[in-house]
Amino acid sequence: MALRLVLATANLDKVREIERIFGEVGSIELIDRPADVADVEETGATLLENARLKAQALVTATGVAAVADDTGLSVDALDGAPGVRSARFAGEHATYSENVGKVLAELDHVADADRAARFSTVALISFPDGSEWSCEGVIEGAIARAPQGSEGFGYDPIFLPQGGDGRTFAEMTLEEKNALSHRGRAFRSLAGLLAEAGLLAE
Ligand code: IMP
Repeated sequence: MALRLVLATANLDKVREIERIFGEVGSIELIDRPADVADVEETGATLLENARLKAQALVTATGVAAVADDTGLSVDALDGAPGVRSARFAGEHATYSENVGKVLAELDHVADADRAARFSTVALISFPDGSEWSCEGVIEGAIARAPQGSEGFGYDPIFLPQGGDGRTFAEMTLEEKNALSHRGRAFRSLAGLLAEAGLLAE
């Protein structure tokens, strides 16, 4: 029987990527986040704490094991910002393009060699018995000088991953991004842990 997990995120951009990554693993059934569950305030100081808050809220609401994703972009020239504030960098209800605009504006005078950045994702599963499993995935890269591409979401148009071919994440297909990305790495590692623990029986 497949492992049933309720998604703690309602962000369709993330859901699409997680469904594809776990789809390749098999033996995991993902259930949409129920619309009547209130938004969870991300008050944690770390990606791990925020992922845990989100997953545990869904376990409490549904009684089913839940899987959460918390992600941040960390830019060296901005002392690690936006970090855990990635969703709200340009303000409480900032759009993706406002956040991208703020990063580009703050890096306006920063040379190409000093534009290093990384995406980190913590993928976490919380079970009703209180146990949890988590993994972090990181992709190093650099911030482009201008947005490029229309795939992906969030900061993808300005992120040039290492190990790529000079395209931003927003110029890649979903498969190409997942193969390299923070989220792909975190969720594939998490699936590996679950398989080792015998939780992904055929
Ligand atoms: P959250 O707090 O994990 O929901 O995500 C924080 C913010 O990071 C999101 O609002 C997006 O702007 C951005 N983000 C998360 N994942 C990605 C990604 O895979 N690519 C680009 N931006 C992302």
